[in-house]
Amino acid sequence: MAKIQMKTPLVEMDGDEMTRVLWSGIKEKLICPFVDLKSEYYDLGLPHRDETDDQVTKDAAEAIKKYGVGVKCATITPNAQRVEEYKLKQMWKSPNGTIRAILDGTVFRAPILVNGIHPTVSTWKKPITLARHAYGDIYKNTEMRAPAGSRAELCVTDKDGNETRTLIHDFAGDGIVMGMHNTDASISGFARACFRFALDCKQDLWFSTKDTISKIYDHRFKDIFAEIYENEFKAAFEEAGITYFYTLIDDAVARVIRSEGGFIWACKNYDGDVMSDMVATAFGSLAMMTSVLVSPDGNYEYEAAHGTVTRHYYRYLNGEQTSTNPVATIFAWSGALRKRGEMDDLPELQAFADKLEKATIDTIEGGVMTKDLIGLSTIENKRGVNSDEFLDAIAENLAKTL
Ligand code: NAP
Ligand code: MG
Repeated sequence: MAKIQMKTPLVEMDGDEMTRVLWSGIKEKLICPFVDLKSEYYDLGLPHRDETDDQVTKDAAEAIKKYGVGVKCATITPNAQRVEEYKLKQMWKSPNGTIRAILDGTVFRAPILVNGIHPTVSTWKKPITLARHAYGDIYKNTEMRAPAGSRAELCVTDKDGNETRTLIHDFAGDGIVMGMHNTDASISGFARACFRFALDCKQDLWFSTKDTISKIYDHRFKDIFAEIYENEFKAAFEEAGITYFYTLIDDAVARVIRSEGGFIWACKNYDGDVMSDMVATAFGSLAMMTSVLVSPDGNYEYEAAHGTVTRHYYRYLNGEQTSTNPVATIFAWSGALRKRGEMDDLPELQAFADKLEKATIDTIEGGVMTKDLIGLSTIENKRGVNSDEFLDAIAENLAKTL
């Protein structure tokens, strides 16, 4: 069989630890035998980020802007322990944070549902898609320690040099202080991405912030969403029979748990980070969650929602077989290949992405799965296999459909 041809390269961002091992397995067994893969490769593994003073992360983000589609492996965000472990020059920032800051945009995360795995929340019947604002707030913050006796103030200097100041706190004892920002442009882009996505999949859109406590910052998010909805999307929503609904974040959390799913929940950056882990886990597993960053100018970056699965990696280094679930990483590849196919008008490549996803789901529904899913699946004659065996089983199913 002739391999499927591509026109434009994908931006391929390799990563760390167990997911780096899965990454090469997925390429070797599921992609390269069938697709003449064109990719521009960036090694975002921590040693190479350190070697390049993190320039490679910025270059990768710029490449996504150039080509339009990227696929990223999970990467380590260093903490003090990682600085020691990898003998790093410094505690480099989160690569995802860096890429999001360059691309801007919104991250949409949705669970991959398979027969036999039922959500922990018994009322959930349909997927809940989490739309996470991917710019600013705590991910682009400035923070300091404030020694006893110091005064912290917020100061904004306008273009003519006039200062507006407010007191944050007079520190009697030692403390901490943080500054963060967002922009009307980014919040507007977030709002439009969410309204469009809701119209695309004909699902209600919920949005939540803490505007009762944050009367200027969070309130600005609420106002921008309301204004854009009224002026640009209300008529289309009414015609599509879907609704836009704003509520406080704590009220949203309670309603989400009582709901039956089937809607999009838009959250600010931090809320989205935390809530997507909760929603993914309650739907089955973090390893069964797709994630795509959509930038306002139409660039797409696909990844898995989970991390580098460090505990499994240490076992792998000890020579043990691991049963790490590659599904979310496979779906990152299929998502990126499908989008590349759409942009370059390559129906064969799009069909390949569909078949790769179907082969993956069929494998699990056929009873072959990684061990994290064994305890969750209710199907009979299920069999827990290691990662390599699982990839081989998918490859076999995939080859049959091609
Ligand atoms: P994690 O890698 O997501 O793993 C947490 C635990 O969840 C694992 O120990 C494992 O549980 C389970 N798990 C997650 N993904 C799995 C999979 N595919 N298959 C099977 N089990 C899976 O989170 P973490 O341990 O907090 O973080 C590890 C590293 O990842 C950190 O250095 C962090 O900076 C990085 N990280 C990167 C990203 C990203 O690049 N997008 C996101 C989050 C974290 P058991 O051990 O119980 O089997
Ligand atoms: Mg997270």
